[in-house]
Amino acid sequence: MKVFYDADADSQLIKDKRVAIIGYGSQGHAHANNLKESGADVIVGLPKDSRSIQKAKDAGLEVLYSRDAAEVADVIMVLVPDELAPGVYRDEIAPALKANKYLAFAHGFGVHFKKIVPPTDVNVFLVAPKGPGHLVRSEYERGRGVPCLLAVHQDVTGDTRGIGMSYASAIGGGKAGIIETNFKEETETDLFGEQAVLCGGLTSLIQAGFETLTEAGYAPEMAYFECLHEMKLIVDLLYEGGIGNMRYSVSNTAEFGDLTRGGRIVNDETKAEMKKILGEIQSGQFADEWMSECESGKPNFRRLETEGEAHSIETVGKSLRAMMPWLGEKTLVNKQVN
Ligand code: NAD
Ligand code: MG
Repeated sequence: MKVFYDADADSQLIKDKRVAIIGYGSQGHAHANNLKESGADVIVGLPKDSRSIQKAKDAGLEVLYSRDAAEVADVIMVLVPDELAPGVYRDEIAPALKANKYLAFAHGFGVHFKKIVPPTDVNVFLVAPKGPGHLVRSEYERGRGVPCLLAVHQDVTGDTRGIGMSYASAIGGGKAGIIETNFKEETETDLFGEQAVLCGGLTSLIQAGFETLTEAGYAPEMAYFECLHEMKLIVDLLYEGGIGNMRYSVSNTAEFGDLTRGGRIVNDETKAEMKKILGEIQSGQFADEWMSECESGKPNFRRLETEGEAHSIETVGKSLRAMMPWLGEKTLVNKQVN
């Protein structure tokens, strides 16, 4: 796989365009501020009643209503939640699209699953940072960057890849590495990762471990430390140097337990279910289910979220975290400003 850096990008390309960032959430605030500090001409597009208007103005950014921002821009980056993107695209962006403009995304969801079908005379690309927006911003402020994926879906003017590379470099991606992919691969691997491993797999693993210990009569505080709190220590070791690094650092007893028991927890049956989940993603079944869930007002989403909040691991977690004040210091997220 080829990786590109700042030297491979023409930093002038994006500076010669007007860029509209539609949305000022996790990704939006990072892209807008990084692009501006890299010398690009940036406008933030937001709905009339948005609370983010003040945050963006406080950061010294020019703010317009989404439709007006899309109208005056050459490059329109859509950074609204994926479930809202088709509606925002239809109402605010599509009417402002002219031939040869550039429509951009940070996730291929809408375009790949055809919830958004751009006209054929418009360029379409994606720049997807492999990290949350708050890290994209904080790394840029430290003179570094977060790796970015780059993909081109439609290239009418012949320079879409160059514009995308220049954009990725301007938000800091060229310091860490820009990896070229396509909309299908970015979208399907992203959904699979968050469902099977990162969010879905991990939260279910933690809860099942916590329940097993508490149901056996162990203190919920002990179960919380073992199954949730210490997860970070292990993940830090994995993040730093992979599985071998983690196994090198933990005790021999822990490593023997890992090697002999792990495969009994995540076994052939688990993997068969992972394959089923991947199939639902590839066929578009998951995308359709999520879109119709949103159309009906998210009843299952809210019910499951409420059930999760009521789990006893949340109550014990709250009181234990209060004993560790350092956990609240130096957070990347400050809801008042980003
Ligand atoms: P978010 O929920 O943090 O922010 C969404 C923003 O959209 C908010 O500022 C909201 O006010 C705004 N918005 C809502 N309706 C709007 C409208 N009609 N016009 C303009 N703005 C509107 O979203 P996010 O997590 O930054 O996700 C944005 C995109 O980035 C998604 O495609 C997501 O998949 C992708 N992405 C996110 C992450 C991440 O870590 N958060 C990482 C990579 C890619
Ligand atoms: Mg992801």
